Amino acid sequence: MEFTLSPELKALQQKVRKLVYEELIPLEVEVEMADGYLSPAQRAALREKIRPLGIHASSLPQAAGGTAYSWEAQVVINEEIGKATNALGWLVWAPAIVLKQANAEQIERYVRPAANGERDACYAVTEPNAGSDASVLSTTAVRDGNDWIINGEKWHVTSGDVADFVVIQCATDPEIGDGNTLFFVDLDSPGVTVIEHPKYSHHIIDGHPKYAFKDVRVPDANRFGEVGGGLAISKEWFLHERVMIAARCCGAAYRLIEEATAFAKARVQFGSPISEYQMTQQKLADSLTELWAARLMTYAAAKAADEAETEEERKRVHAKASMAKLYATEMANRVADHAVQIFGGRGYMRENVAERYFRELRVERIWEGTSEIQRIIIAYSLYKRGVEALIG
Ligand SMILES: Cc1cc2nc3c(=O)[nH]c(=O)nc-3n(C[C@H](O)[C@H](O)[C@H](O)COP(=O)(O)OP(=O)(O)OC[C@H]3O[C@@H](n4cnc5c(N)ncnc54)[C@H](O)[C@@H]3O)c2cc1C
Repeated sequence: MEFTLSPELKALQQKVRKLVYEELIPLEVEVEMADGYLSPAQRAALREKIRPLGIHASSLPQAAGGTAYSWEAQVVINEEIGKATNALGWLVWAPAIVLKQANAEQIERYVRPAANGERDACYAVTEPNAGSDASVLSTTAVRDGNDWIINGEKWHVTSGDVADFVVIQCATDPEIGDGNTLFFVDLDSPGVTVIEHPKYSHHIIDGHPKYAFKDVRVPDANRFGEVGGGLAISKEWFLHERVMIAARCCGAAYRLIEEATAFAKARVQFGSPISEYQMTQQKLADSLTELWAARLMTYAAAKAADEAETEEERKRVHAKASMAKLYATEMANRVADHAVQIFGGRGYMRENVAERYFRELRVERIWEGTSEIQRIIIAYSLYKRGVEALIG
């Protein structure tokens, strides 16, 4: 099975690639040396360059202010933005796909401004005692008249340092639905505090603060979805993110292979370019082969999502997304390891692309469901649906 991009998608790919190579990649080393800091003014200026390209908010419908691309087109965008380190590609802002499920009033208050780049969102599920199992939370939302009172702690809240509102998953009555409910919470609400800005292996432009919620009062109008429907919405978010993570990992591996190949051809040791040595060739050949496989899977998962019509087809997409995420994230880590080795001592310097990816790609095997969790999803889907239903 081969895939070819339509002329429209090829044009989209070239447009995003130009942005990444001309505007984002040149910033990498400066941002790395500043431990991921990008000033608000630089952020704003870059966003204004990105806005006319029409590639932001790509998963949201136009009615909610988005640019309404297919999953396949979003994979094209994410593959290209994955080619910049330090998460500079996130400057192409992409509010969570599930925000389109907000009601009309919430769309005007939260979703449209986020799609326009006027407000920024983060999504808080994880807690000190709830990670892979996001169904049993300690953060509670208790009904009080027409309001809800939220108490709890959320960890690793990506973009929580630059966002101004959060979609928070809380435990509600376990007898209703999946026992979880989502809320929009403005981060300047009384009772919301940052506990800590932890430091992580990577130095990317957004942080992951820990947040405390102490008697935070929100009106029922801020409830996102049904009472007891929160976990189901979060799972839809995970599904979409898994395919886009796979795409970004393909982009990262692509860049690593390009850069490592160019270096190997130029670097002379023992009188020959190291590209002439078979142990270098093996690393590059394995990397390219694995990237090809990961790209085929990722585009196939996106196409399956675009084409799914029945409930059963949509369920199959979950397994395909997990396979794409599992394989592409693990592939990208292997490619980064090979690239560091090819660069030798240079590959251990923070100014080097392989060193940065070597650290940055590690988390792709952890967030949005660890590799172990993806394997569990794939295995149960296999038991339930069989081989043919999943891979044809
Ligand atoms: C940089 C970063 C950013 C993040 N951003 C966000 C965010 O924006 N919002 C958010 O809500 N969360 C976020 N997370 C949290 C992330 O989704 C969790 O870290 C992840 O789901 C794993 O949970 P955990 O860390 O609690 O590990 P645990 O669930 O405690 O798992 C520990 C280990 O046990 C394994 N394990 C667990 N259960 C099983 C099982 N049944 N079978 C086999 N192995 C198992 C895991 O695979 C893992 O290897 C982020 C995390 C990081 C590191």
